[in-house]
Amino acid sequence: MLIIGSGVAGLTLAIKLAKARPDLRITITSKSNFSDSNSSLAQGGVAAVMNAVEDSVQRHLEDTLKAGDGWCKPDVVNAVINQGAARIHELISWGWEPDTAPSRKLDLAREGGHSASRVVHSKDQTGQSLISVLLKVVSDFPNVTKLNNWFSVDLLMHEKQCVGASFLNLYSQELSTISAIYTVLATGGAGQVYALTTNPDVASGDGIAIAQRAGANISFMEFVQFHPTALYIKGQKGKAFLISEAVRGHGAELKLANEETFMHRYDERGSLAPRDVVARAISQEKLRTKTPNVFLDCREIQDFETVFPHIYQQCLAHGINPKTEMIPVAPAAHYMCGGIATDLQARTSIHHLFAIGECAYTGLHGANRLASNSLLENLVFAHNCAEDLIPQKFEELKSTNPRLPILSKADVPAEFYQVIQKEIQQIMSANAGIVRRNIELKNALKEMTTLENTLLEITPSLTTMQLHFRCKNLLAVAQLILQQSLLREQNAGGFYKIDNIKKK
Ligand SMILES: Cc1cc2nc3c(=O)[nH]c(=O)nc-3n(C[C@H](O)[C@H](O)[C@H](O)COP(=O)(O)OP(=O)(O)OC[C@H]3O[C@@H](n4cnc5c(N)ncnc54)[C@H](O)[C@@H]3O)c2cc1C
Repeated sequence: MLIIGSGVAGLTLAIKLAKARPDLRITITSKSNFSDSNSSLAQGGVAAVMNAVEDSVQRHLEDTLKAGDGWCKPDVVNAVINQGAARIHELISWGWEPDTAPSRKLDLAREGGHSASRVVHSKDQTGQSLISVLLKVVSDFPNVTKLNNWFSVDLLMHEKQCVGASFLNLYSQELSTISAIYTVLATGGAGQVYALTTNPDVASGDGIAIAQRAGANISFMEFVQFHPTALYIKGQKGKAFLISEAVRGHGAELKLANEETFMHRYDERGSLAPRDVVARAISQEKLRTKTPNVFLDCREIQDFETVFPHIYQQCLAHGINPKTEMIPVAPAAHYMCGGIATDLQARTSIHHLFAIGECAYTGLHGANRLASNSLLENLVFAHNCAEDLIPQKFEELKSTNPRLPILSKADVPAEFYQVIQKEIQQIMSANAGIVRRNIELKNALKEMTTLENTLLEITPSLTTMQLHFRCKNLLAVAQLILQQSLLREQNAGGFYKIDNIKKK
């Protein structure tokens, strides 16, 4: 049994399988260290209905459908939201200690688009606390092998069935394969395809590109979520620090440099409107005022440093004191709503290949993810996938004759790949951002084809293999976003194309 990816999705699945099937040999891999992931960066928390008096499953369901703007799969939303409380209780039984209120009940935070306080959290570092618990629990199982710095290159296929994956061991710089009756991709998001993102370096869409190369269905890649409030630092490129939505839930207001509020001009929910509405509003205000950012005013929040200690420290580290000055913010690429298409059990269109977490498209988020619904999706789909796999017979694999990538002896300088990566990111940010146009999408696709042809002329060596495949994967994800954006003829949720305005 092979699980590629050690975020909340992959680790949860590994624990569940290891517990229920001590006879199985489970390998879980990560291309970096085990705590380097989108999961570790999650701040806000996990959305779930934990207070049946002031909240209900029906309300969470309606909020999710509303945010998804007509593109959620209602049966999936229903199945996921109904499991919320069970998954939180399970995490607590594994040792997770979310914040509690003085009443000793869970302290539930409110976030944009939610009609009730329902976000279970651990200060403003929920992801890190979850990952440390999951890593501790998984280490108790002798039948789980953890391989960090194992970069998955491609899937191994035999007669249209997935039979494992090929890897580059980044320690020894050796290529090898892991054969497996069942393989699960839990490789996370693809924010790195843009020049400014809240995602870490590892989020380069590898799983989506790998699955596409093997022939899996990839859907709804045009639905990229931009987080409205990443910390804006002049001249910054690459990874941007996130100022969680929970800060607005706690009373912060979006303002212009002259301290004027503007969100009420766009939505009656003001600063608490869903992400897509806020991101578009900020992008329009940036254009109107010809400034690169707006501001988040937290000065009225008395307990800022206690409720958001991590955000407070990060702001101070950048020379901004949220208690005395407004925080400069701008939108950044944040979450991939589309991905490898799966059913409710996380099965993909390829036999014996599953996908869970952010790399999967399940139908939960539709055109726009409701805040804190993604960690919930990770937990539920890891559970559903485990339920599907636990009763299976894990027969020995027949010999499969795995194909490893062809290698060159000559090295291409690393700078060559860095230039390609930068170009992909800049093209995507300029042409496939919050507001899109067909003409720009088409031009961007042409530029991607040129970059693809340049890459095709090069055979990587062992030293450049990871960089080569990183660029290849970023290119594949970029092309999917551009192609699927061109095909979408109706605006919805986070997707906004000028050409579609009259059609809406
Ligand atoms: C700053 C930030 C804040 C967020 N806050 C929240 C929040 O409050 N609530 C919420 O619900 N969601 C939040 N999200 C989104 C959420 O964190 C992610 O969607 C979720 O954690 C993804 O989990 P995952 O397990 O699918 O992937 P990840 O956690 O990203 O893990 C991916 C794993 O795959 C591995 N991997 C990738 N490619 C390869 C490869 N080629 N070979 C081997 N291994 C590979 C990586 O090394 C990593 O271990 C936030 C995201 C960010 C970036």
